[in-house]
Amino acid sequence: MRAAYGRRMRDEQDQNPGGAEPEPSPRRAADAPADGAAASGAVLFVCAACEVPLTQPLTRLPAVPQPPFYAWWDADEPGPSPATVPSGCYAIETEPYGAPLVATGIPGPAMPRRGTKTDRHGQWLVSHGPRGNIVINPDDARGLTLRHVSSACCGATPDGGMNQMCACGTFVATLCSDCCLPYELHLSAGHVRAVQP
Ligand SMILES: [Zn+2]
Ligand SMILES: [Zn+2]
Repeated sequence: MRAAYGRRMRDEQDQNPGGAEPEPSPRRAADAPADGAAASGAVLFVCAACEVPLTQPLTRLPAVPQPPFYAWWDADEPGPSPATVPSGCYAIETEPYGAPLVATGIPGPAMPRRGTKTDRHGQWLVSHGPRGNIVINPDDARGLTLRHVSSACCGATPDGGMNQMCACGTFVATLCSDCCLPYELHLSAGHVRAVQP
């Protein structure tokens, strides 16, 4: 699955506006297929609707890290937990994430790093949301406004889907920041675009 994903990312990089930059010389292109920014992996993400930058330049991690252990139940103040993704980095979530949550007979996390969740009839729920979210440290995002779409206590939950609005009014991301949840921001692959810094 990872290999397939790698191919898809390369295709996307081929199509992204990096292609609009001045062509490197043929010799350089042959010696170094990636330019400096691509070689370091740094991209920044912009709103696909209005092009406004939503992040700093970020470097890709090979996978979403495990969230740092955090005894939220012992914390003096409620949430958020330490961020799953270190500042300055991003990673791709290969599993379905966010709404819709659908009933399943198989117990397990509702979505990655989320823990289990049941509906009011006690049935297990699992995400049938989109794959391919771009997971970042919420502190690396800018210009986003929280619009709750699922009930939360002190932060936001991903259970209702996208809850982060760009200044242009488009929902572009899902914030997970409630105290008993991992601290993550998921940019929607369908609503943002990677550009060279
Ligand atoms: Zn926008
Ligand atoms: Zn809370």
